[in-house]
Amino acid sequence: MPPTTHAEWLSLAASLVPPVQHLVGGADDPGGGAVFPLVSPRDGSVLAEVADAGPAEVDRAVAAARRAFDHGPWPRLSPAERGAVLRRFADLVEEHRTELALLISLEMGKPVTEAYEIELRTTINTLRYYGELADKVHDESPRTGSDALALVTREPIGVVAAVTPWNFPLTLASWKIAPALAAGCTVVLKPSEQTPLSALRLGRLGAEAGLPDGALNVIAGQGPVAGRALGLHPEVDVLAFTGSTAVGRHYLRYAADSNLKRVWLELGGKSPNIVLPDAPDLDTAAATAAWGIFFNSGAMCTAPSRLLVHSSIAERVVDAVVERARTLSVGDPLDPATEMGPIASALQFDSIQKHIAAAREDGARLRAGGHTLPDQDGFHLQPTVFDRVVPGMRLARDEVFGPVLAVLTFDTVDEAVALANDSEYGLAAGLWTADLSTAHQVARRLQAGTVWVNCYEEGGLNVPFGGYKQSGNGRDKSAHALEKFTELKTTWIQL
Ligand code: NAD
Repeated sequence: MPPTTHAEWLSLAASLVPPVQHLVGGADDPGGGAVFPLVSPRDGSVLAEVADAGPAEVDRAVAAARRAFDHGPWPRLSPAERGAVLRRFADLVEEHRTELALLISLEMGKPVTEAYEIELRTTINTLRYYGELADKVHDESPRTGSDALALVTREPIGVVAAVTPWNFPLTLASWKIAPALAAGCTVVLKPSEQTPLSALRLGRLGAEAGLPDGALNVIAGQGPVAGRALGLHPEVDVLAFTGSTAVGRHYLRYAADSNLKRVWLELGGKSPNIVLPDAPDLDTAAATAAWGIFFNSGAMCTAPSRLLVHSSIAERVVDAVVERARTLSVGDPLDPATEMGPIASALQFDSIQKHIAAAREDGARLRAGGHTLPDQDGFHLQPTVFDRVVPGMRLARDEVFGPVLAVLTFDTVDEAVALANDSEYGLAAGLWTADLSTAHQVARRLQAGTVWVNCYEEGGLNVPFGGYKQSGNGRDKSAHALEKFTELKTTWIQL
């Protein structure tokens, strides 16, 4: 059982010794001696000095993954055998759930109870799901004349470089590595420089579970150095990236400038959440809107950051969201009473404050928050709500990736759909209505990879996740994720 009190989590944190070296070829790799300080957003203290990969470490990690793919047992094991290792991996993550939740909370400030309950549950489920799925997908044999046999088979592509952000460090890593490994690929994972510790620990649990040496390598390092070297590496066959749209563009260029490796992108969002006057329960709609934008300090690619509310009900809904913003408890993520932790890094803290300043300059009305909490240690910001936002304003268009809500109003369903689709992004959307026909008709018109009706952030591993437009390509989760890590081969046999 995990600790239940603030004091217990603090004492566990004091005794924690996280791994700080890369994992390459199944062994600790200290790198060439370069390290970077990892600053905890809880209090600004240096949590650890972490190995900092340069091109030489990237080369070593890719070579280990290449060897493991070309000569190692992993791609040659039966899918059932690979599945069994992934399920052992899931079991080990479950055994170390408390430690991993604590590492995440320390490195990026997520409330530790949410890291334990939500992030670790999803990570464990993901490893288990692909562990189960590995031998339950089938190849095809299209019908031919009686003189031939056609086979359409999926083969693992090779070495996958997975590059991930800091907001869900283990869940998003597992969405890449579990289907890649299930498919028979080998992996080099480069987590965000804000969250290397949980990923380095995860890699070691994979080795303990029985992944052969080099099947899963984890390197810590900076995006423009280690990430770039992976992106340009001629021995990497697939790039599976989750992060900002700006950096996603870099990966497309890296692929174009090197070996045309496959590039799969899960990018940013500015998701609309439409509340129609016939929403089945306005209190639930408002509570969900508030939860959605303040959960994980707003660092959700799918955050419902544009609340589009019908003008006839706007006052009631917005007042309820503002009330929630004012009463949310912001504080130490190791305190189980905390509902919103700090912003993950000094960089992100400054960036969000700039978005708030821009919203004020553009004439949006501040209804709640808008300020830092200087009386607390760490990078704490008040949950913030702006209403009277109109489409031309920066807050209506730019991804903030923080606890800042933009409220826009509309008078007709057509207007709501036009506002919702007026974005370069298309990751997700919410819709609140009691009318079944309206729900289906509007859901079809929304340009979004996921549409949630009368809920938000719901779903299981068996549904695909990804974006339209500049929110990316390809899909994480579900059997569709295997498509990213396999090539389709046609074999035509003349009989
Ligand atoms: P980011 O794009 O800054 O960084 C993501 C990763 O890219 C990190 O590992 C980083 O080291 C690396 N990187 C940074 N600059 C690089 C460069 N020049 N070359 C190569 N690699 C580089 O994103 P972030 O701040 O870590 O995360 C926030 C972003 O991620 C938001 O835009 C959010 O919407 C997005 N996100 C998307 C999803 C999704 O599934 N669509 C999920 C979570 C987060």
